[in-house]
Amino acid sequence: ITAPDVHPIQEVLNQVHEKYRSLNLGTPATYIPELAKTDPKLFGICIVTVDGEQFSVGDAEQLFTIQSISKVFVHGLALEDHGREQVLSKVGVEPTGDAFNAIVLDEQSKRPYNPMVNAGAIATTSLIKGQGASERLNRMLAMFERYIGHESYIDMPTFMSERTTGFRNRAMAYLMRNFGMIDDRIDESLDLYFQQCSLMVNCCDLATMAATLANQGKNPRTGVQAVPSRYVRDMLSVMYMCGMYNYSGEWAYRVGLPAKSGVSGGLMVVVPGRLGLGIFSPPLDERGNSVRGVKVCEDLSEQFGLHLFECE
Ligand code: GLU
Repeated sequence: ITAPDVHPIQEVLNQVHEKYRSLNLGTPATYIPELAKTDPKLFGICIVTVDGEQFSVGDAEQLFTIQSISKVFVHGLALEDHGREQVLSKVGVEPTGDAFNAIVLDEQSKRPYNPMVNAGAIATTSLIKGQGASERLNRMLAMFERYIGHESYIDMPTFMSERTTGFRNRAMAYLMRNFGMIDDRIDESLDLYFQQCSLMVNCCDLATMAATLANQGKNPRTGVQAVPSRYVRDMLSVMYMCGMYNYSGEWAYRVGLPAKSGVSGGLMVVVPGRLGLGIFSPPLDERGNSVRGVKVCEDLSEQFGLHLFECE
C-alpha cells in the first residue's frame, strides 16, 4: 500500500507550519482593547493559486479582523472611483520611515505620504463614492466581496472599540480636512475607516484576495473581476514600497514581494502571475508585523526563489 499522494504545495505548507509553530516571540497588539483578547498560539497559512487551487494548514478557518490589510483594497476602490491622477493629488506614494500612525503630512503638498499609513488610508477611504454612510459602506462591502468571493461582516465590538479609542486617527482626519485633503464628511469617513479595519476574514480569504491581485484583478475562484486590471500595478507598487510598516525596505530587499500586514497578525503576500499567500499569527514584532508570518515568507521566498528580482 502506498501513502496517498500529498500535493507538493501542501507538503511545503505542512513543513513551514511545523517549523515555526513553536516560535514563541512577539506579543499581540493591545492598543485596540478587542485585539488584546486574542490567542497567541493561533497560526494558519493558506495559498490560493491563479488557477484557483487552495491549500491550507493550521488555523486557516479562524476569523480575525483584517485591519491595515484593508488599506490595499480601499486604495483600489479609490482608484476605480477617481482615477490615478485624482487619487495621487490627495495621497502620495512615498514610503515613510515614520510610524504607521504618525501625525505627519508632506511638507510641501500637504498630502499624506502613502495609502498604507493611517493618514493616507483615511484619505483614500474618504474618496469612496456614494450618497451617505450606508451607500458608501455597501459599496465598500461589495468591493471586498468581489475579492473574497463571499459576503463578509464587520465585527461590531472591534468597530466600537476603534471608534471610541481612535483619537489619533480622528486628529489626523481633522488635520487633513484643514489642508483640503479630505472633504467635510469627516466623521462619516472615519466610521467607514474603522469599519473597513473591522472586517472579518480568515487566512484563506486573504490568500484569495492576494491571488486576485496576482491574477490581474480577477478572482481565480469565482472568475469575477474585482478591480479593473489597469489599477493592479498601482496597488502592488504601493504595497511593495510601503506594505510592511517600518520593515518595508528590508522586506522588499529580503523577500522581494508585494505584501501587507495588519495589527491583528494577518499578512497577505502576492506572487504576481502565480499565487496569493495568507498567514495569520497574532504575536507581532516591534515593527508591528506578525513574527511567524515574516519568518514563513522569508523561508518560502528563499526556498523557491520568489524574489521578484531573483536572477538564478
Ligand atoms: N485600525 C488600526 C488603526 O487605525 C489599523 C492599524 C493597522 O493594522 O496597522 O489604528
